[in-house]
Amino acid sequence: MKKTTLLILFFMALLHVNAQSSYFQQEVNYEIHVSLNDTAHSLSANIIIDYTNNSPNTLDFLMFHIWPNAYKEPTTALGEQFLDMGNTDFYYADDSLRGYMDSLDFTVDGKPIKWNLTEKNIDIARLELNKPLKPGETIKIKTPFYVKIPSSEFSRLGHSGQSYQITQWYPKPAVYDKNGWNAFPYLNQGEFYSEFGRFDVYITVPKNYVIGATGDLMDCQAEEQWLDSIADATKRKSRYADDLEFPESDSVTKTLHYHQEKVHDFAWFADKRFHVLKGEVELKSGHKVTAWAMFTNEDSDLWTKSITYLNRSIKWYSQQVGEYPYNQVTVVQGTLSAGAGMEYPNVTIIGGAGDDRSLDNVIMHEVGHNWFYGMLGFNERQHPWMDEGLNTYIESLYMDKYYPNESLADAALGINVFNAKTYPQIAEYYFSNLMQWRRNLNQSLALPAQDFTAMNYGIAVYQKTGLIFRYLQAYLGEKEARITMRKFFAEWQFKHPQPEDMKAFYEKETGKDLAWLFDDLINSTKNVDYKISGRNEKKDADSLIVKVRNSGKVKAPFVISGLDEDGDVLVSQWYEGFDGAQKVKFPKGKYKSLSLDGNKVMTDVYRGNDKAGLKSPRLVLGWTLPKDEKSTLFWVPAMGWNSYNKFMLGAAFYNSLVFEKKWQYMVMPLYSFEQHNWNGSFSLFRNFYAKGQTQRISMGVTGRKYNYNSDYIMPNDE
Ligand SMILES: [Zn+2]
Repeated sequence: MKKTTLLILFFMALLHVNAQSSYFQQEVNYEIHVSLNDTAHSLSANIIIDYTNNSPNTLDFLMFHIWPNAYKEPTTALGEQFLDMGNTDFYYADDSLRGYMDSLDFTVDGKPIKWNLTEKNIDIARLELNKPLKPGETIKIKTPFYVKIPSSEFSRLGHSGQSYQITQWYPKPAVYDKNGWNAFPYLNQGEFYSEFGRFDVYITVPKNYVIGATGDLMDCQAEEQWLDSIADATKRKSRYADDLEFPESDSVTKTLHYHQEKVHDFAWFADKRFHVLKGEVELKSGHKVTAWAMFTNEDSDLWTKSITYLNRSIKWYSQQVGEYPYNQVTVVQGTLSAGAGMEYPNVTIIGGAGDDRSLDNVIMHEVGHNWFYGMLGFNERQHPWMDEGLNTYIESLYMDKYYPNESLADAALGINVFNAKTYPQIAEYYFSNLMQWRRNLNQSLALPAQDFTAMNYGIAVYQKTGLIFRYLQAYLGEKEARITMRKFFAEWQFKHPQPEDMKAFYEKETGKDLAWLFDDLINSTKNVDYKISGRNEKKDADSLIVKVRNSGKVKAPFVISGLDEDGDVLVSQWYEGFDGAQKVKFPKGKYKSLSLDGNKVMTDVYRGNDKAGLKSPRLVLGWTLPKDEKSTLFWVPAMGWNSYNKFMLGAAFYNSLVFEKKWQYMVMPLYSFEQHNWNGSFSLFRNFYAKGQTQRISMGVTGRKYNYNSDYIMPNDE
């Protein structure tokens, strides 16, 4: 018995080593010749793909994405996702607004092959190889293709008049990795996963189009000079016109050659109205990166500052994550139906931005995707937290640095209500998640992109991931967290790291057990909830004994803070996580009170029980964000009227409004000036949270005393 166990263990250890050393990725190099027809809004193109099988397996077929077909009819996966989300625009759209790809005629190494669009998804094709592709072998795949460009009002590929957003536009092999083929239909909510390789793209357009694209312009001195001259003119401009008319297209065309290596996608944007601004940053190694901003008259006053945002974003991510290795970053303005901005290698598109802060925010976020999706080629469809969440984490550090005095009121609400001015901007992430956690509406971050509700896609995928990596940063220390991230990037850039690769790397690098983060906070809906249940002070000892209970289900590290009379943190100490209750030592000092997580870096779902010793209830008019929830009783003036009692005046007292509590109560006494008596109502509920279909079960009692029905004024709950 024992021997077998040992043998199995030994065998498993070998497997583990094997699994790590057997990482592979396919190499895919592209040559595309494409010309734009800007009256038919279409592309005519030829593509040549050199596909190298670096996997240990022989391939009999290849899976391809034919994603413009997603826009062909309402029954595509994209069309169905729109309907699921309550968007009927695409369903009812005129055929002229839809798009598709056709004229495909695949050959492999010069010979025709059998291929077909899959039965389930017309935007996925299966190419049968005449001869199996063995490990290490390369084949040349060729096909012409034609794209009818859809209206840009639907998703990412599209045109708005003669403004073109050419994305996900060519036939492209799906990723083949250790999990097999990752072929999936195009979706609006749900992103990408592509093989790294080299692109040589030759774009033919009427001469007066300005183009922003992936890659470097090759042998195009005339084009570079032309762009420079527009940049000079833009720089000297003090006023922009406000017309958005398209000038006539030049009857002469030009062909521009863009070249890039070690990228997994190629996108381009063309507009005849673009103003151009040019900048440059020098990175630590001396490598210089050119920054381009391209925009129309719309929001031009905001966009004049875009180069500043662009320059410092490139620097920021280069410092925090790893140096930007390419020669240029371009940001173009465009109409966009899939969020505020959209990222592609070297080039990003930005939609309408209301003010300086949000333009900066969107530009830096999209530029940041060059790292989190571009160079770290995650499977975004399957693990959206990896690109959006990690990017949001670095974004939040940027916002802290460049907007240090911004509060929750500035960041999220625009006005100072509910004490929002007293919270840092990052509190937005916490409170939006808290709202979901307390209502039991949170979803595990392990889900694929399309399985999130639209709300959780933003709140969980972006913001919760941002929060938990800030939690990790606070626990590891800022420097250690940055070094670990930089090493992870250095190890995995231009590859496809999976969540398990990141966990293994982080655990090895930090020497910590990070199951609380990767298994619990990411792969489950479990929440962190510690509380201080007591403290003990011995006269001569130099430490206090603090009794801490883990009321949650996550053995996450936690921090105890000593606070001064204003609640500011004087001293903090981290502890490793545990189940149940334990006594820990905390150094004595000049602090006035003790609290868990004084700097609010943990994702504790009940911060109300974090304090040692509770104060008597304070009364708050209306509602406020929870600081120490247990001790807060909210109230609003209330009025009522019925034909018997006439006008009644009183107040409603309640313990919760936005963030649900296990026990919720409301008492509303009302005095009738007509009858000189007290009326009113009360409710007391205990909320139970269950998994599965039922979000919440509430049990409780309500009562009212009125002689007649009353209408009263109460604020709406959410
Ligand atoms: Zn993003």
